[in-house]
Amino acid sequence: MNANKNEVSVFHGEGHLTGCSSDEEPGAKTMIFSQIETPDQLVSNRNAEFMHRYFPLATVDLWNDWKWQLRNSITSIEGLRKIMPLSDKEIMALNNLKGRLPLRITPYYASLIYKTKPSNPLRRIVVPVVEELLQAPEEKFDPLHEQLSSPVKGIVHRYPDRVLFTVTQVCSAYCRYCTRSHSVGKLDKLGKNDFEKAFEYIRNHREVRDVLISGGDPLTMSDGMLDYILSNLRAIPHVEILRIGSRVPVVLPQRITQNLISILRKYHPLYISLHFTHPDEITPECSEACIKLADGGFPLGSQTVLLKGINDDVETMKKLFHKLLMIRVKPYYLYQCDLIPGSAQFRTSINKGLEIIRGLRGFTSGYAIPHYVVDVPGGGGKIPLLPDYVVEHNNEKIVLRNYEGKIFEYPEI
Ligand code: SF4
Repeated sequence: MNANKNEVSVFHGEGHLTGCSSDEEPGAKTMIFSQIETPDQLVSNRNAEFMHRYFPLATVDLWNDWKWQLRNSITSIEGLRKIMPLSDKEIMALNNLKGRLPLRITPYYASLIYKTKPSNPLRRIVVPVVEELLQAPEEKFDPLHEQLSSPVKGIVHRYPDRVLFTVTQVCSAYCRYCTRSHSVGKLDKLGKNDFEKAFEYIRNHREVRDVLISGGDPLTMSDGMLDYILSNLRAIPHVEILRIGSRVPVVLPQRITQNLISILRKYHPLYISLHFTHPDEITPECSEACIKLADGGFPLGSQTVLLKGINDDVETMKKLFHKLLMIRVKPYYLYQCDLIPGSAQFRTSINKGLEIIRGLRGFTSGYAIPHYVVDVPGGGGKIPLLPDYVVEHNNEKIVLRNYEGKIFEYPEI
């Protein structure tokens, strides 16, 4: 089962890959390595070439093993230097990450960036530059005040009927603009007692009908741990829906195994919020992972952070949202970048976000248009923003501007 039979082929079996070209963009056409197709054996051309060059002892089976991907992730400047030349700004940042958001890039995601320039959007997402070390006065370690809204370890209870449950601090790749850069990547783990207290809190708060399981990235946890967490939450009668927030299909698509899907399927209704940043992230492997999840019956939504020089133009966003719909992911939120330390390099004006929404609404399907929100500093929650479509509104009528700039009226009753 391929995401796109015209673009994707698969390689099956042991041994090294040969004869693959590599001067293509992420997600570009793939050569045929074998006629044998199984869903868990997908290796696109770019990945095959990378694997052959930098992991010559790895088999395709190993490459497709998510635990191998985690074990072989790049976590140091030395590791990164082996696969790509680094700029001075990158070296300076990598030499000063102590106590900050660590470096972690899966071999899979590294295969998407190893031949790129420092300005490449995907590279900027995971490779730090020196600007990350500079903190502007308006930037705070916990800009959303999540710690103040945390009644017990792991739970953030800000909104009336739902809670955020941060079950791990580990991600398979760390995004340099991460809102929780103050906590992710740190060793602070939830122990069994912490989990029991978190379940107890939700059990005692009958108003909680929706639990968002996040982190870190929950899908970096073992199948057994996920089963434990989900079964405990599903056993609470007033919890109606469960959600998982994850970037794994984008940075570690090998994790989406049939076994994982069988476990998750026991806990419907289960929604999955994925985190995409750029259209080049939608590779054959990523598409395959999302389609497997969609076939598992999980409604898929995406969250995207608006990032300067990475995705802050209408065409890039439109391409991303169109590609997401093709892999059955509904663009859900477009976030204004949070005010975390070192985020000035990534932050755009609010006008830029409004300009993007204005450039989408009316020009493409409504399904391709996410809500543009600012998660306001100080813990005020998400506030949606819209371009100014209302020209005038009084007791008699509302005067509206459409996507073409034409003016229309609708009577007030
Ligand atoms: S995957 Fe999410 S939690 Fe992990 S580093 Fe990226 S933004 Fe942060």
